[in-house]
Amino acid sequence: MLILVTNDDGIHSPGLSVLTKALRTLGRVVVVAPDRERSAISHALTLHSPLRAVERSDDCWAIDGTPTDCVNLGIHGLLRAKPDLVVSGINQGANLGDDLTYSGTVAAAMEATLMGVPALAVSLAADRFAEEDFLWSGRWAAKLAVMVKNHGLPADTFLNVNVPAGSPRGMKLTRQGKRRYADAVVRNLDPRGRTYYWIGAGELSFHDLEGTDVHAVERDFVSVTPLHLDLTNYAAFERLRHWADETPAIETDELNERSR
Ligand code: MN
Repeated sequence: MLILVTNDDGIHSPGLSVLTKALRTLGRVVVVAPDRERSAISHALTLHSPLRAVERSDDCWAIDGTPTDCVNLGIHGLLRAKPDLVVSGINQGANLGDDLTYSGTVAAAMEATLMGVPALAVSLAADRFAEEDFLWSGRWAAKLAVMVKNHGLPADTFLNVNVPAGSPRGMKLTRQGKRRYADAVVRNLDPRGRTYYWIGAGELSFHDLEGTDVHAVERDFVSVTPLHLDLTNYAAFERLRHWADETPAIETDELNERSR
C-alpha cells in the first residue's frame, strides 16, 4: 500500500510519528504535513502565495501550508502517484459532533475524498496524550486501514475516527453528535489598556445522545463516523418546497432606493 499521512498539529506532533510507525506495517508511508500547528484551520487552501516543501528525511515533507494544502500538493506534486489511502492524525484531542467543521484533521481527509482517494481522520479523544494512548489510536488506524484496503469505502465517503484514552472496548459505527454551545467570550484589557476578546474559551460539552460519536467515546468505544461531502439537508426539502413559488417579488428600483 502507498499511504499519505498528514495532520493539523504539525510535523513535530507525537501523534503523527505514532501514526506513521503504525501504518508502515502496511506499506510505504509518505508524510506530508504542515511545518507548524494549524489546528482549527478547517478546509483552508493557500491560493495567494507560493508553498515550500522541505524534505526532512526520506518520505517526509514539511509544508508551510494547511493540512488541505499538504494533501493537494502531496498527491499532485510530491508523490506523483495516487496513494491507496490518506490518513490524517493522530490529532491531539477529539473531533466530535459539530466541531468537525472547524477541524483541519477532518478537512485533510475531506480533500483526499474530493481527489478520489479513500481517507481516514483519526483523533485521540482525550485531555491527556500519553504515549500508551497514542499507541492504541495508531493500532486502530492500522486496523481500519486494513479494512479500507480489503473492502474499500462507499463513494464520496470518508471515516472520522475518534479513539478514547486507555484500551478501547471495541468500535461503534456512529453519527455526528451535537455540541452544547456556551456563549463564553472572554473580554479583557491588554497591558496597553486596549480591549481584547478571546473566543472559544467556554467549557466544551456535548449532548449525550445514543448512537452518536460522543456517546461511543464516553463509553470507551472507538467511534467511526462515515461522513460525506454533500451538506444538503434532504429532509428540509419538504418544508422549503413552496419557497420557489411564494418568495415575494421585490422591484429592482425599490432595492436601489433602499441601498441609497
Ligand atoms: Mn489539531
